[in-house]
Amino acid sequence: SGFQRPTATFHSKRQPIPLPPNPNLDITTFISSRAHHGGDAPAFIDAATGRYLTFPDVFRSVDSLSAALSSMGIRKGDVILLLSPNSIFFPIVCLSVMSLGAIITTTNPLNTANEIGKQAADSRPVLAFTTQQLAPKLAGLSLPIVLIDGEEAKTASVAGKMRIVGTLEKLMNAEAGEKLVRDRISQNDTATLLYSSGTTGASKGVASSHRNLIAMVQTVINRFNLDDTNSSHRFICTVPMFHIYGLAAFATGILATGSSVIVLSKFDLHEMLSSIEKYKATYLPLVPPILIALVNGASQIRSKYDLSSLQSVLSGGAPLSREVIEGFLEKYPRVTILQGYGLTESAGTGASTDTLEESRRYGTAGLLSPSMEAMVVDPDSGARLGVNQTGELWLKGPTVMKGYFGKVEATSSTLSSEGWLRTGDLCYIDEDGFIFIVDRLKELIKYKGYQVPPAELEGLLLTHPEVADAAVIPFPDKEVGQYPMAYVVRKGGSRLSEGAVMEFVAKQVASYKRIRRVAFIDSIPKNPSGKILRKDLIQLATSKL
Ligand code: AMP
Repeated sequence: SGFQRPTATFHSKRQPIPLPPNPNLDITTFISSRAHHGGDAPAFIDAATGRYLTFPDVFRSVDSLSAALSSMGIRKGDVILLLSPNSIFFPIVCLSVMSLGAIITTTNPLNTANEIGKQAADSRPVLAFTTQQLAPKLAGLSLPIVLIDGEEAKTASVAGKMRIVGTLEKLMNAEAGEKLVRDRISQNDTATLLYSSGTTGASKGVASSHRNLIAMVQTVINRFNLDDTNSSHRFICTVPMFHIYGLAAFATGILATGSSVIVLSKFDLHEMLSSIEKYKATYLPLVPPILIALVNGASQIRSKYDLSSLQSVLSGGAPLSREVIEGFLEKYPRVTILQGYGLTESAGTGASTDTLEESRRYGTAGLLSPSMEAMVVDPDSGARLGVNQTGELWLKGPTVMKGYFGKVEATSSTLSSEGWLRTGDLCYIDEDGFIFIVDRLKELIKYKGYQVPPAELEGLLLTHPEVADAAVIPFPDKEVGQYPMAYVVRKGGSRLSEGAVMEFVAKQVASYKRIRRVAFIDSIPKNPSGKILRKDLIQLATSKL
């Protein structure tokens, strides 16, 4: 008839991912069945020391550690806390825990003891894995601890009353199989609890199932098309493994492709660049602030390091501007730049560009991930919108979380009964299916790709005796993306200064959550039901720019 109604549901244009039908398959078994592509090559290499684990080493260690955990009484459904910087052992801990049907919860090593304590109170772990250096942050929790490095006695004396029950080295080298009790795992059982504030409020545990992770890993395999390349690729891992970006890529996905991963314990520009040279790395996944550093320092960097092995830089976790993409392609003409968009709530999947040609649709986050569907929904009317119309992105597919752990209300306001996930991101989808993220509807602030939930900082500000009311908003910044800014209403007679407000918060939060700008205001604008009108405050803050 010539007339076409606007599309209400967008389907992925990528080839669908195969999903294993066995209802009792767990993520660890799935990965080990795929990782044979790696042969005897190193799976994980420690960039600093050169120490490595081959693919067979990884799965041998996972078997031994699973058996050791099982004999310690760890069972299906138990939660294990992992507090560690990136390490070649991080994936071993995750895979071992999940292979028993137990649940892994990760946390940012920069978090304070108090912030970690809150996560522990919510997720109720029965055991923790951590390093000697970070162990004191767990001193206040009465949790048995396994040390990933270091000597038991030394740490015990440093941290006082902690219950150190073993070291990873010892547990990994225990005889495998002896007392291994494996509960029957269903693909729908929870495997991970990563923390995210979602569209509103405080951090919540995102419950992802074995099936969610299997689908995510299969998406990674499809994306890099590395299935049969015989492990010729080497990835640099500098993005954090505690976050879905690093966990999806490095603790699980890339392992299943049979490629090698060079692990940096944390981000350091020099170490990253010299590791590319030393290990002839081909793929470099990053967050936008690091890409910006690569563009700004290009002439010095290129004269100092041999980056000729590098084929692709991947950017994800936050928006990437056209300016940065163009700058990068100009300075590094032989390197492809690829984009990825995702959320903790969708196991890191959502959209991606898989070729330079796709990335050249500047501003796009890419095509919808395989086997996913999307809707663009008018945030005010709830109407489903069509091609090139801007609204909230809703996603549905096999990677979408089960829900927020123990939070029925937060779950039902984020996940519809038909399985649609509200991303809290504003987007449009063009006639060829490319998604353009144009703004964030949700409160979330992203500082260098790290999540900063405003509600948490507002709660803290309200505990100050001279603060009557407060609101925290994202303030745009070229280098870090956004940083937290506070609008504060002082109590009558108070002469509280901007510096004092910043210091009050800085003393109580991890460094990436610090408030870096303060303005005083007579009252916080709110709607009739008391919700902070953040958009008004953002406009007020940025109107002078
Ligand atoms: P997280 O759960 O920490 O991964 O944060 C997810 C949020 O980060 C998304 O909902 C977006 O707001 C933002 N984000 C992630 N990747 C991108 C991207 N490529 N472009 C724009 N925003 C992104």
